[in-house]
Amino acid sequence: MIVVMKDDTPPSEIERIINELNNWDVVPEKLAGKNKIVIGLVGETAAIKSEHIQQMSPFIEETIRVKKPYKRASLEFRYGEYSTVTVATPNGKVDFGKDSPLVVIAGPCSVENEEMIVETAQVVKAAGAQFLRGGAYKPRTSPYAFQGHGESALDLLATAREVTGLGIITEVMDTADVEKIAKVADILQVGARNMQNFSLLKKVGATGKPVLLKRGLSATIEEWLMAAEYILASGNPNVILCERGIRSFDRQHTRNVLDLSVVPVLRTLTHLPITIDPSHATGKSQYVPTMTMGAIAAGTDSLMVEVHPNPAKALSDGPQSLKPQEFQKLMLEVKPLAQFFSRGTKSLQNQTLSQSMTKDYSKI
Ligand code: PEP
Ligand code: MN
Repeated sequence: MIVVMKDDTPPSEIERIINELNNWDVVPEKLAGKNKIVIGLVGETAAIKSEHIQQMSPFIEETIRVKKPYKRASLEFRYGEYSTVTVATPNGKVDFGKDSPLVVIAGPCSVENEEMIVETAQVVKAAGAQFLRGGAYKPRTSPYAFQGHGESALDLLATAREVTGLGIITEVMDTADVEKIAKVADILQVGARNMQNFSLLKKVGATGKPVLLKRGLSATIEEWLMAAEYILASGNPNVILCERGIRSFDRQHTRNVLDLSVVPVLRTLTHLPITIDPSHATGKSQYVPTMTMGAIAAGTDSLMVEVHPNPAKALSDGPQSLKPQEFQKLMLEVKPLAQFFSRGTKSLQNQTLSQSMTKDYSKI
């Protein structure tokens, strides 16, 4: 339920209403939007009659019942205003949101060694990315597959962050690792396989750090938003949703099916920012550029693309990783498209050929 306040409501009146609501069986939360101040109510609201609330103050414009099972994640909860998630990086603040420039996250599936992660960071930065991705803890189908270098990989991510100033995003799989990962990462990634790991969602929610929440392998949009609700309910408003493809009966040609329709659908349901990951969605690097362009046209706020200096030798997800030169070419194409959709970014204006770009990565 939300209580919409009139424009001329004195702050003291809002405080008074919140104090009064605190005595009810609900949790009131003040949400100051660009246009309106709204008090969100979560809890046993079914028993509350709108008239009861209305009688509390002449400054209440209206009360609206949020019928969806997810409350804080719903667009209604913010009275139709889309949220911006601002992430502080060494190079400055980066905004994720419907009204912000396109954000690009790029990097290898796994952090393999210092040289590869630092060089990849330099390459993706030069091409216009603002975040470096790279897994230290990897969720692998086989227990015999490379599991990630763990803590030592976190140190390498910290080095890459220091050298390039890029923000870092890396996956957290276990509640026990949240604190140490949060020391290095600017954004915590919850992977598809952990989308409904509710203990993990509560724990990353408690850090207050921005969280990229990937859609589960076969999660419905509602299940995904309910998972986001766990993070929001833990007091962390900084959630970014990431579509990475869903399972289908046909895995012959693509690893998953990229559900680009989530972009317009989510816009009707939630205020949270959206990222599209065309790499895990297609599983094949040759399809990544086309789906990247499609994602921008669909209106995504951000992209997450896997890039590896030598995909043939990658310890994980080589077939879907772009080579540095391919990523640079893609980013040159992204620039005019982002501008066309009024999503141009400063980092895309300043694309340069990095020193390391001249190296022949295919021969490493
Ligand atoms: C990843 O980003 O490397 C990853 C494992 O992604 P997902 O959880 O989408 O499979
Ligand atoms: Mn991967």
